[in-house]
Formats: sequence, structure tokens, C-alpha cells
Amino acid sequence: MKSKLLFALMCLCIFSLHSQEKVINKIIEIGQTDNRTMQHLDVLTNRFGGRLVGSGAFEDAREWMVREMKGWGLDVAVEEAGSVPVGFNRGPWFGRMLSDNGMQLHFVTPSFTVGTKGLQRGHVLSEPRTTAEFNRIKTALKGAWVLITGSNNGYPIDRTPTADSLRKVIKADNERIYDENRERQRRSYADGEKYEPTPYRELPALFYKEMCEAGVLGFIQSSPVPLRALYDRKMLDLGLMDFDHLPAVPDIKLDEHQFALIKQMAAERREFLLEFDIRNHFRIGPVKYHNVVASIKGSQYPDEYVVVSGHLDAYDVATGGVDCGTGIAPMMEAARMIALSGAKPKRTILFVAFAAEEFGLLGAKAFAKTHADRLPRISNLFNRDGGPLPPVGISVPPAMYDDFVKVCEPIKRIRPDYPFEVQKLAQPARKPQVAGSHDGTVFAKEGVPIFNFNTVDFKGYNFDYNEIWHTERDLYTKNIAEYQEHTATCIAITALGIANLDHQLSREGAYR
Ligand SMILES: [Zn+2]
Repeated sequence: MKSKLLFALMCLCIFSLHSQEKVINKIIEIGQTDNRTMQHLDVLTNRFGGRLVGSGAFEDAREWMVREMKGWGLDVAVEEAGSVPVGFNRGPWFGRMLSDNGMQLHFVTPSFTVGTKGLQRGHVLSEPRTTAEFNRIKTALKGAWVLITGSNNGYPIDRTPTADSLRKVIKADNERIYDENRERQRRSYADGEKYEPTPYRELPALFYKEMCEAGVLGFIQSSPVPLRALYDRKMLDLGLMDFDHLPAVPDIKLDEHQFALIKQMAAERREFLLEFDIRNHFRIGPVKYHNVVASIKGSQYPDEYVVVSGHLDAYDVATGGVDCGTGIAPMMEAARMIALSGAKPKRTILFVAFAAEEFGLLGAKAFAKTHADRLPRISNLFNRDGGPLPPVGISVPPAMYDDFVKVCEPIKRIRPDYPFEVQKLAQPARKPQVAGSHDGTVFAKEGVPIFNFNTVDFKGYNFDYNEIWHTERDLYTKNIAEYQEHTATCIAITALGIANLDHQLSREGAYR
């Protein structure tokens, strides 16, 4: 009797191993012959575009994701994660200089700043730094584009009460400097003493309110290239912006080379005009945003989890092709591969597209709060949010080493030209005290393992994350297809393997 039972158990075991092998082979086959990672990315970036939280594009992308993943047979939940007080939809933008050496203008505007009132043309002035300078140009400000000081860091002109207080202080300082300079200039006329004026203090758009009231068309600031555009974080966070309290004047960040030329021409008092047509549109708020949580339920341990994640939102100056298309597209393809392979994972696998990562990891924080009870039962969270490079290995604590070696073994069969090595970490990473640079840190802070693949541009595609990070170049075309496709298969194999272990991954030595 006893031996019969043992025999049955052995058969079950072999059968199970055999079917797991079949599933892995199927995943590898899909990865090699029908890998749709770049198709998902194409829809995400080029049908919907920049997926700013609060935009129509974000909501459309979310709906599409739900539809696709349901279509592959996953359970999909849409979980409210927060709201923005007003929504924003970016349209196209154009600008050029009208003069004998006219040129197309290369510029951006931060999200949640206003566009033009159609095509608007005007002359150019430099911003005043003293009341005397303001008075000298106050009538001419009407219908002018005003060059302001400072260099673009992605954020718009600071319109908060704190910035206004600082403006007051600097204006008073500049009045004093103005008086002192005049006095020294007078003395220099009288006795020939060498006169070097003290420079004025600067703050971008020092006479902001006065210039708006004078009827300027917009402000223009110099920007390093590639151009970066973030959003009006301060005004939104302080609750000072909603549909009834929108900015009134465009805030243009112009290519520094063009800015320097235009500033020079304005200083020479040359006759020329700039024209801009900027279509920044708003939506009545509050606009709720949601995480998308797709799942394949565990057959043996449904209350234990393996999580694969990325963030669905992206800055809208580009299309989020890399940040975080490199997370979402392979995640979706990994979900499709596992679903189509017929896998019945022992643990539940969650595929989570977080909202509002760019606004402060808000979707991840909402998820961690809502599902606090699940956090101790997450084997590992594989968050991908750092570029299109392919997995070439993974470094894990010694207690996880054997499991990862076993789970990752089939990865070498995907493409023989891609390396992969599991390594033992010399010492545990420090557990973060506060959530930091990506959604994974929200979970690390709570002790959830977030071990992730080591990635290397080993084929030499010359990828540079700084070039795309929150800039106009974060596009589909900055992605690297073979790397991304390989990533999807690696994620599918690894997530499924961890979900199929007969024990939850050890947390020993995960953090110190
Ligand atoms: Zn990101």
C-alpha cells in the first residue's frame, strides 16, 4: 500500500516536472518566433503618446492594457490610487523666428503650463531686474516675448507664495544696488574713478506679475539640449492649481543655442519677431488615476505572490518609450507568454502597472498601503524602470542562490549569444529608510525583496540613459528591440520559476 502511494507520488512529481518543462519550452518558443514586446511598445508610445497622469492618453493606455491582458486570460483589476486636481492634455507645438535668418525654434513647455491663444507673433525683450528697467519697457511689454534669466531644469517658473516672497527680497536688493551703482557712476564722472557696476541679483521672471499684467505673450528661458520638461509640481502639490486657477502665460524652454542668438539680437535692438503656436490643454478635475493589477492565480499558494512591475505614466514631452516603456512592454509580453504557455503557477503572479511614479511613486505607495497584508508574502518584486538593456545575470543573497540558479537555468536556451550568470552578493544591501528613485524602493522599505537583473549594453548600442531621462528624446525609436524582446522572455521564465518553487523565496540576508 505504502509503495503504491510512493509510486503515485513519484509519477505525479515526474508529470509535474515534465509539464513545467513543456511550459518553459513553449515560453522560449513564443519568445523566439512570436515576440510581441515591440508591438506593445508601439501601441503604448505611438498610439497613445506621453502618458501623463491626469491626461486622456494615460487613461486610454490603461483601458487598452486592461483589454489586452483580459484577452490573454488574466484577471485584471483597476485600482484607484489617487487624483490630480486638474488634468492636462498636450497637443503639438510650433515656433519660428521671422527675420532674414529665420529658423524653426526648438523648444518645449512643462506640463500643466498654458499654451498660446493660437498662432501668436511678437517682438522680444529681456526681462527687467529693477523698477527703473521695468518702467523703461512697461508699454513695450504688451505683445512681447520676454527672455528670462536662469537655465531650464524641467520645472516651470516658480509661482508659489514662497517664490513671490523671494522676489520681493531680491527686488529690494536690486533697488539698493541700483542706487549704489548710480552714486558710484556719478563719482566716476566727477573724479575719473574707475566704475564697475555691481551685478544685479537674478531670479527667473523677477517681475512676473507685473509683466503678466502688462500683457506679455510669454516667457522664454534657455535650456540645455536635449530639452527636458517636467510639470508644475509645486502648484499642484500645494493645491494652488485647479481648472479655475490655471497659469495665464506660456512658459517656453528654448534650445540654449537659439536662446543665445536671440538674446544677442534683442540686445542689438534688431527688428525681428518670434511666433509660437502651443496647444496645451486642460481637463476639469479632480482626475482620478489608477494602477492596473493583472494576475494569474496560484494553484497551491494563491496568497503568496511574485510581482512584475513597471510604471504606466510617463512625461508627455516625449512618449515614454524608455521611461517606462522598457518596463511595461516586456512586462505585458511576459504576461502573455505565461498565459499562452498554459502554465499553472503554484503562487499568484501579479503584473502591476503603477500610476503616478513620476509624480512621487504615488501609485506604488497606494498599492503598498492597500495591500499591506500581502507584502510579507511577496517572494520578489521585479520592477523594471531603468532603460532598455538586457538581463545578463542577477546578484542575490546566498540564501536565494540555489533557487535562482535553478529558476534561471533555461534563460541560456533563449539566445546562445546572450550571457547570463547568477551571482552571490558579497553582503546584503542596506534597507532604504525612505522610498527613493523608483517604485521598487517603496517595497524595499517594507522589507520586500526587489532583486533585479543586472543589465549591460554588451552589444554596444551606445545607449545613454541621461539622454532620454525626462527629455524630448524618450521615444519608441530610442528603444532596442532585441534587448527588449530578450528581457520579456527572461522575465517570464524567472517570474514563473519563482512562483513554482516549493517554498517561498528566503528573505535571509535580503537587507541589513
Ligand atoms: Zn521611470
